[in-house]
Amino acid sequence: MTQVGIIGWRGMVGSVLLERMRAEGDFDLVRPTFFSTSQAGTAAPEVARGAGPVLDANDLEALKRMPILISAQGGEYTQAIHPRLRAAGWDGYWIDAASTLRMSESAVIVLDPVNRPVMERARRDGIRDFIGGNCTVSLMLLAVSGLMRAGLVDWITAMTYQSASGAGAQHMREYVEQMGALHRAAAPALAEAGGSILEVDRAVQSALRSEALPHAQFGVPLAASLIPWIDKDLGNGQSREEWKATAEANRILGTVGRPVPIEGICVRVGAMRCHSQALTIKLKEDRPIAEIERLIAGDNAWVRLVPNEREASIRELSPAAVSGRLEVPIGRLRKLSIGGEYLTAFTVGDQLLWGAAEPLRRTLRFLLDRLDA
Ligand code: NAP
Repeated sequence: MTQVGIIGWRGMVGSVLLERMRAEGDFDLVRPTFFSTSQAGTAAPEVARGAGPVLDANDLEALKRMPILISAQGGEYTQAIHPRLRAAGWDGYWIDAASTLRMSESAVIVLDPVNRPVMERARRDGIRDFIGGNCTVSLMLLAVSGLMRAGLVDWITAMTYQSASGAGAQHMREYVEQMGALHRAAAPALAEAGGSILEVDRAVQSALRSEALPHAQFGVPLAASLIPWIDKDLGNGQSREEWKATAEANRILGTVGRPVPIEGICVRVGAMRCHSQALTIKLKEDRPIAEIERLIAGDNAWVRLVPNEREASIRELSPAAVSGRLEVPIGRLRKLSIGGEYLTAFTVGDQLLWGAAEPLRRTLRFLLDRLDA
């Protein structure tokens, strides 16, 4: 059985990855070795029975023994370790959730339901770095791949509503702590039946402005608020998260030479899990809505079209409804009054599943020649 080193399994993406690998029987196909930058020597996680103790993720010699490494440890780790491994002659497959290598000439961004031919070409060409895409980009592509594949899209704006878990395990904890602190502050006013709502509001506002509200991770309140900037400031008014849309989507689709522009504002909101996006799609030509719906719904096994009706939208198109599910619903689909080529749509996807862990575990299967269509 092929040996696979797994790094970053304790984090948000890594935990979901292990859960999915167990659910799909991936551990029956490989012999896992677990690595950590902080937990070397402890017992391996229970999901993979029989694995030896956790090894040091900075031990290059131990890493080099693995023909396949999967990392969900983070960008700094990739930056520190990957070049040294390659420089030392390691020619194994590197599967990674971090963004560090996505734009590298020697890497391919993986999202097999959308770009399996691109992945197959990369493998034939000897590419050995298989990198998961940005969560928001991957989820958007799964939702609108039918229109992209048909060559119908002129441009897209994507206004995002990204969850706390997109920032990792520590941020999720802080978000829940913030919610708890706000409730504790408002509890006395809430307890007074028929009490003033302004008292409740004042208590929440005061807690939001207090230095005592936990904010070490996000820097500012997320609970009862939002943060209109994700990732680094590129200095041109754009955040790095916003830059990723055009750059990564076209790499995934293999359309870098004739890119489809995808632009928008990325916003962190108080959702626990699942990224949502409001899309405006400019088509190259006016097409009937029934044809558009057919193209979207028929593209892959995970996209699901939600009727553009109130009940279906509020019940099926929210982070609460979609969390923990592999399907990527898209709804609120209609022509805008601006013109027949302008569509609007709203899509939600679990960014820890198809946005992160799922492409990684499927890439492992792809490299083992065990990926079904
Ligand atoms: P994370 O939750 O912060 O975990 C990363 C690593 O931090 C863990 O594997 C662990 O490594 C260490 N860690 C330190 N304290 C921890 C704690 N209290 N609990 C758990 N782990 C702790 O990061 P992540 O969200 O999984 O992201 C990993 C990579 O995937 C990043 O490059 C990120 O950009 C990318 N990504 C994330 C998402 C997402 O939705 N979160 C989506 C797509 C891609 P050690 O065992 O070595 O200590």
